[in-house]
Amino acid sequence: MRAAGRITLIVALAAQAVFLSGCKTSSLISESQEIDIGRQASQDIERQNKLVADPALNQKVNRMGQTLAARSDRSNLKYTFKILDTKEVNAVSLPGGWVYVNKGLIDELKGDDDMLSGVIAHEIGHVAARHHASMMGRATLYGIGVQVLVKGDAQQWVGIWANLDLLRWSRGDERQADQLGIKYTYGSPWQPDGLIRFLKILDSKSKGGTSSFSAMLRTHPVTKERIQLAEAYLQKLRGGGT
Ligand SMILES: [Zn+2]
Repeated sequence: MRAAGRITLIVALAAQAVFLSGCKTSSLISESQEIDIGRQASQDIERQNKLVADPALNQKVNRMGQTLAARSDRSNLKYTFKILDTKEVNAVSLPGGWVYVNKGLIDELKGDDDMLSGVIAHEIGHVAARHHASMMGRATLYGIGVQVLVKGDAQQWVGIWANLDLLRWSRGDERQADQLGIKYTYGSPWQPDGLIRFLKILDSKSKGGTSSFSAMLRTHPVTKERIQLAEAYLQKLRGGGT
């Protein structure tokens, strides 16, 4: 499995690069490249995973997602929201505006739309802050992926984004996506503390062993500091803090 090993290495290096560097390099990837890679990765994901067909549930998630995306910093993108038919509690975003919410997450939230909107807004935050492009751009700087982009062959990146087990955001990305998620839900039809309440649930699940939350904990690492920063940001938005 040489390819799989290489992909893991690229992701590890890219994640490290994102974590170590604060500078903006996402301009190395154009928006159309982002969309192209995201579209292909979404096709891979939908080939490998079953989607929930329930029209009412899809309509609800799509309406929620489109409302939040319209409030985002990249409202020009065309966003797609779909539900993966898996019991794992998770949500993922792809470059260019594809967001997948797992049925396991929806079931876990038991109709708490403030929490669901918070998680979806957080994923939109990753797209809006161009975290995918930053990761790809920095990997290019590090000499990885140059061939991929120069040749215009995005297949390697498609493989990376389509592999839901490999995705892992840095703490900085998570912090920024939390802030953007809170910003997009603030003043929306949903309460902006939903994301913070969800992070607390996620944190409470991090102590146990393997659970339906494992994938989400792996891809979106949660810490007490992260929760505190999100709370402080919401307080600031409400005009109650510094
Ligand atoms: Zn995240």
